[in-house]
Amino acid sequence: MQFSFYTDCTAQDFSVKNSKIFPTAPERCPFKDCSMPVKLKKHGYYSKFYISGTFSGVIYIRRYICPICGRTVSMLPMFCLQRFQYSGIDIINILHEFYQSQMSLRKFVEKVKLDLPTIERRHINYYRKRIVDNRKLIQYGLNLISPEFIFAGTIPENQIWVKTFLDKVQRLHPHVFLVGFSKTTGKSFLTSQNMIA
Ligand SMILES: [Zn+2]
Repeated sequence: MQFSFYTDCTAQDFSVKNSKIFPTAPERCPFKDCSMPVKLKKHGYYSKFYISGTFSGVIYIRRYICPICGRTVSMLPMFCLQRFQYSGIDIINILHEFYQSQMSLRKFVEKVKLDLPTIERRHINYYRKRIVDNRKLIQYGLNLISPEFIFAGTIPENQIWVKTFLDKVQRLHPHVFLVGFSKTTGKSFLTSQNMIA
């Protein structure tokens, strides 16, 4: 399971193992079928490669383990997505800009490359496809975070829905969405439905 948390620290701060910049251990197991009222224990870190417009390198993610059921919880700084190298905030901002821009994807990627030289068209298409694949999960999470975001009227076509979703996330602020979504669903909006997160 993964938890996103608010932080004022930068990715650079997470490039060394530092317990102090992570939330303290949950007081109760967050897995519903366990839910034992027992404080989770520190369970080391895992390293991941992280890329944003301002940082590129390894960062360390704190893990806690439930002493009863033995399952682990990863504590992810709000800008970071499990199993993705690029910043979740950058991904949201880039996609939002793309849907606003009316530019061709080729032209748009050339522009993004000025900040993120390694980004390719296939990344953007992959994120878009993943959002469409996760439409039900995302809609479910959005409804819990912000009930006023429930879509009214006819069901929009996928690409129009993605654009509307990204507009809503911008208004909410990407980090508020990322933390809120993880809190309500235990997943990220780009989680593969086939993965046990
Ligand atoms: Zn447990």
